[in-house]
Amino acid sequence: MLCLFSLVAYLATAQEEKNVRITILSTMLADMKGKGEWGFSALVEVDSVKLLFDTGKHPELVLENAKALDINLAGIERLVLSHNHLDHTGGVERLLKEFPSSFAQVYIATGFFTPKLLNGQTPMKSFDSSSYVRSGGTFTVISSFHELLPGIYLTGPVPRIHDEENYPKTTMVKTAGGTKVDIVEEDMSLVINTSKGLVLLSGCGHAGIVNTLEQVRKNFPGKKVIAAIGGFHLLETDETKLTWTANEIKKAGVEYFVGAHCTGLNSVYKIRQIVGFSPAKCLIGSVGMVFDLQKGIKTGWLE
Ligand SMILES: [Zn+2]
Ligand SMILES: [Zn+2]
Repeated sequence: MLCLFSLVAYLATAQEEKNVRITILSTMLADMKGKGEWGFSALVEVDSVKLLFDTGKHPELVLENAKALDINLAGIERLVLSHNHLDHTGGVERLLKEFPSSFAQVYIATGFFTPKLLNGQTPMKSFDSSSYVRSGGTFTVISSFHELLPGIYLTGPVPRIHDEENYPKTTMVKTAGGTKVDIVEEDMSLVINTSKGLVLLSGCGHAGIVNTLEQVRKNFPGKKVIAAIGGFHLLETDETKLTWTANEIKKAGVEYFVGAHCTGLNSVYKIRQIVGFSPAKCLIGSVGMVFDLQKGIKTGWLE
């Protein structure tokens, strides 16, 4: 009986995070404080737990933007890299130097180390994992949906049920069957389970936002995804596919949509229009923008 009570109490705390805050530290658009870049990084705070999801492109920028925004990066417990593109991994080593205890372990998904080739020939410049290891870093590879901390999950590689193809078509990978387009198999997102619904944080969304929403909802039957935040690589998506995507976002029950990084400005506004989001609940993500589960989206001056 006691065990049962303990289990119920554990499940209740795992589901009822009261305070979830996601602050964007790297993306293209910047406001009064901080600088923009082609990259992505976000600080995730769930009650007293802090995580960093991606590290931006320029080695110093996450540190600089955090300083400009008066955000303390000390005490981060987990570092997650959504995938192996330099605009998400650029700050890892610099952050490790600054906060050795926070960034000596990084969570990545299966496929992260598959060598990438530009146009099928030139090796693509990517995260220098051997240098990170020499500096004391270690990797934890996630192969399937995984609970990182109570109530906080990583999707691992996402099954590509729909042909969303939200990845650059010029990057290739070498496989046993020959050279093929890199579908960025390692692309994974972070999910927070709250009593209000699920909060989804994506780096580039190369797995496809609809594929990711479906995988997440399969793991939490009957729960809606209340917020979808981050990069969703919809910047090249044609009208027909974008309309379908927006309708799937609506079906998943999304109430807040923040399209940062590679989502595409016009795509965000098109999604706003199709889903029928109010402007306060569907915005372009900018440096310093905060999603707060209790208070909604806090934008900069520009928006
Ligand atoms: Zn990216
Ligand atoms: Zn990417």
